[in-house]
Amino acid sequence: MVLEAPGRPLALADRDDPLPGPGQLLIDVSCCGVCRTDLHLLDGEVDVPRTPVVLGHQIVGRVAKAGPGAGLRRGTRVGVPWLGWTCGTCRFCTTGRENLCIRARFTGRDIHGGYAEHAVADVRYCLRLPDELADLEAAPLLCGGLIGYRARVFAFTRPGDDATQAFARSLGVEWAGATGDEPPDQLDAALVFAPVGAVVLDALRACDRGGTVVCAGIHMSDLPPIPYADLWLERSIKSVANLTRRDGEEFLGLAPEVPVRSTVTVYPLEQANEALDDLRHGRFEGAAVLQVAARDLQ
Ligand SMILES: [Zn+2]
Ligand SMILES: [Zn+2]
Repeated sequence: MVLEAPGRPLALADRDDPLPGPGQLLIDVSCCGVCRTDLHLLDGEVDVPRTPVVLGHQIVGRVAKAGPGAGLRRGTRVGVPWLGWTCGTCRFCTTGRENLCIRARFTGRDIHGGYAEHAVADVRYCLRLPDELADLEAAPLLCGGLIGYRARVFAFTRPGDDATQAFARSLGVEWAGATGDEPPDQLDAALVFAPVGAVVLDALRACDRGGTVVCAGIHMSDLPPIPYADLWLERSIKSVANLTRRDGEEFLGLAPEVPVRSTVTVYPLEQANEALDDLRHGRFEGAAVLQVAARDLQ
């Protein structure tokens, strides 16, 4: 499923099988998670440097062929996240912040992603997946899970979205309400996943002194003016960008211990546009995953 130009639906297309170069893996894709970032790319809200491109940066698959020096056995299960390549030499790479690499290349944007039967990935950026996680469960953890793993306890949804609040309670949150509601306790930190700038002010006002509002999305509408009194007392607002390989290793090591459970809605690959549209309109709970191969139906 190919993005030919922003603003147009993805096109179902036959492409030549990609070949793995030195240090790369050819992967038989089992499934691929659908992320809000994919919607931002589709809508042109996040820049797409080159088209056509295959979206998808939560890839679960198995090694079909290893390029020279890639050294993973055929059949090994791997996960491919958003961070697809970094330079290793810039001031961010050399200080443990490869998520901010100035030359970074991202899967499903700069590198063809996993809305496809095959994908090629640099072995150094592939993640080993714990055996406890089935393919469909693992896919949404590769971006949404990874970015959000500290977000729990208090959940805020769109006003009136009782279904999602009930869903959040069923997952064990302490409290669920609408943005703008006052939670029972002041928050130490708030993670904002909604691409809506106004929510940042609500989040800031729900935070205790010293609290941090973390914006977790790649794109957001403009923030409203912020009265200084709401920022005062060492409250702060920051964004988190991308991931480091260490984040991926730590989180996937932790996920089976918690254990983190994924709630997924499965679509066949050819229905990628429906999945994206349902995501846009909040028509499913949990995460959408495109199923490419039917071998893992747990
Ligand atoms: Zn993502
Ligand atoms: Zn770099």
